[in-house]
Amino acid sequence: MRIAMISQHASPLAAPGAEDAGGQNTHVAELASALTVAGHDVRVYTRRDSPALPEAVDAPDGYQVCHVPAGPARRVPKADLLPHTGEFGGRLADTWRRGGWTPDVAHAHFWTSGLATVHASRRTGVPTVLTYHSLGTVKRRHQGVPDTGPPGRAGYERALGRAVDRVVVQRSDEVAELVRMGVPRSRMALVPSGVNEAVFRPDGPVAPRDPARPRILTVGRMVERKGFLDVVRALPAVPDAECVVVGGPPAHLLPADTFARRLSALADSCGVADRVRLLGGVPREEVAAWYRSADVLVAAPWYEPFGLTPLEGMACGVPVIGTNVGGIADSVVDGLTGDLVPPRDPRALGTALRRLLGDNVRRFAYATAALDRVRSRYSWRRCAEQLVAVYGALTTAARPAPAVA
Ligand code: UDP
Repeated sequence: MRIAMISQHASPLAAPGAEDAGGQNTHVAELASALTVAGHDVRVYTRRDSPALPEAVDAPDGYQVCHVPAGPARRVPKADLLPHTGEFGGRLADTWRRGGWTPDVAHAHFWTSGLATVHASRRTGVPTVLTYHSLGTVKRRHQGVPDTGPPGRAGYERALGRAVDRVVVQRSDEVAELVRMGVPRSRMALVPSGVNEAVFRPDGPVAPRDPARPRILTVGRMVERKGFLDVVRALPAVPDAECVVVGGPPAHLLPADTFARRLSALADSCGVADRVRLLGGVPREEVAAWYRSADVLVAAPWYEPFGLTPLEGMACGVPVIGTNVGGIADSVVDGLTGDLVPPRDPRALGTALRRLLGDNVRRFAYATAALDRVRSRYSWRRCAEQLVAVYGALTTAARPAPAVA
């Protein structure tokens, strides 16, 4: 099958950690690889955001990345991309109409890519699939500030849900959210994101640690909603444990980072500064060694659209304590593969940590069950298979019925 993936702001070739480069870049890269491995012909369309980028590049994993000239050839924050989506969609339509390579299906990632794709589809008849990744309304509700792009975002997202042929949702609470927005349930398919099991696995290098001191690990960008402050507030409940925080700017830039300073000041005032280690951002290929070094991974966001870190920890055989929000509530099965606690509740987190760190048998049972769960439900191969079934239904529906002899 010829599959176009549209990811206007998030190139699969960008290094995660840069501004606006995070989960979606990784998701698109892994998905494109898995679909290619499954034998499909995949092209990823992303905005040309540097004059140095060639029109098309072959990614090492065998798919092609096309750099679409739409808007200035420099980085534009994703919140400011709306004025360029029409041009982006027009270029897609022109390319596909030229006939050299017309996709059987176009899968858009994020709402601005969705707009461009619907625009192109109207002119070419290519069936469309959309993954929102995050929803403006949800983000606004949790962050309390409308920092999620143009004010019309929610309206566009609602309209897109009706304009595309299928919406791929990644977690169960997204279904309810979209139903509330008026997106027909019949148009949705639930396909969770995957985790790279070749990278995130129980065996492999382990970051150095003090064997005498239990290690709590937490991983993510240095933003308030990731809940690092709550993890620090929970530490007095587990007096012997150290807490390692992976994420944020590289270590040498941490002293200048406002949030990192806030976290250190809080650790001081809670009397746990000697047990909290801020590592700063760690390159992607080193993160697994840190997961493996931990006795427990804490994922304590206030909300989380999907949440890769709990899955990565589970794939490395580490028990997880997560907050009962968004995608984490799907990936962690409470009492079986980990513990779920309410968000913004350091007391509940402290109690869960004390119990789990004091119970080797429970940690082992959680880690084993977590590994099984990841292998059976969250492999990229499985994700690709499920998506191909979604695409296949659309292309069959779109094709004229064969003549009966
Ligand atoms: N990550 C990383 N280095 C770091 C911190 C995080 O490579 O120092 C990776 C982490 O392994 C995960 C991703 O960044 O793959 C974060 O994804 P998640 O869904 O947890 O959060 P997002 O950043 O998308 O909100």
